[in-house]
Amino acid sequence: MQPSTVRGRFAPSPTGPLHFGSLIAAVASYLDARSQQGNWLVRIEDLDLPRQMPGAADIILRTLEAYGFEWDGEVLYQSQRDRYYQDALHALSARGLLYPCSCSRKEIADSATHGIDGLVYPGTCRDGLAPGKQARAWRIKVDEQPVFFHDAVQGEICQILARDIGDFVLKRADGLFAYQLAVVVDDHLQGITHIVRGADLLDSTPRQIFLQQALGYATPHYLHVPVAANAAGEKLSKQTLAEPLDSRNRSEDLWQVLAFLGQSPPPELRQSPHTDIWQWAMQHWQPASIPRQRAIAV
Ligand code: GLU
Repeated sequence: MQPSTVRGRFAPSPTGPLHFGSLIAAVASYLDARSQQGNWLVRIEDLDLPRQMPGAADIILRTLEAYGFEWDGEVLYQSQRDRYYQDALHALSARGLLYPCSCSRKEIADSATHGIDGLVYPGTCRDGLAPGKQARAWRIKVDEQPVFFHDAVQGEICQILARDIGDFVLKRADGLFAYQLAVVVDDHLQGITHIVRGADLLDSTPRQIFLQQALGYATPHYLHVPVAANAAGEKLSKQTLAEPLDSRNRSEDLWQVLAFLGQSPPPELRQSPHTDIWQWAMQHWQPASIPRQRAIAV
């Protein structure tokens, strides 16, 4: 038997139950990994305590099971992994890439320009804290070097971090490790080779590649699927009141996800047991048919 080399993952944040939008990322990452005889892991991204809903992680796992997903190994919880994030922070600090920042949101808003993903940090604390100022957050120094990558759906992506993003936070003022750091450390330590997720994270990927390079990690393959949006163009999410999945509708939901992903499932499959839908999907998965869009209204 060939050793399995592909490793994919689904990494939900437990801010609420799964909804149609999150099912798209779960299905796409699962089919991508399993159709290549790969492993598929689940990681609960529960670092951001203030944004969490108690019990959501369990609801998410039960929902995945009810829809017929099978993951490999133990589920990993980011809330239990501070030591790994701290080690990575030390490694970056040893390379002279980190600095403490005392700026409040207001101070940044008063002097920053707008970039690709919010305000571009103006570099106020880059050369040291002003006298009497306290360190609040830790930032990484980025540069003018273009960060390129090829996305299997969205094509060639390039950012200049210094211009488009600015020095970004790795440890927040509230003491929590930032998503950008944790995701890179965990994808590396879990040996993830194929990252399949929603295109709302496309603009984060150059930051993650920059961190991988700074930490000496390999860069995985990326595939960003369109996100489901409402008529106003907003991503379906708890904030936009997306309805929780109900496993009584699992066949219909899975069929709809496959249709959303451009897989053209046959209409007669719609009423079939969910296990038949999975079987069809594994046999017919065509990443090349996924629409090359960042968002699609549903
Ligand atoms: N936890 C992130 C989310 O739920 C996904 C992270 C990722 O896939 O890299 O939006």
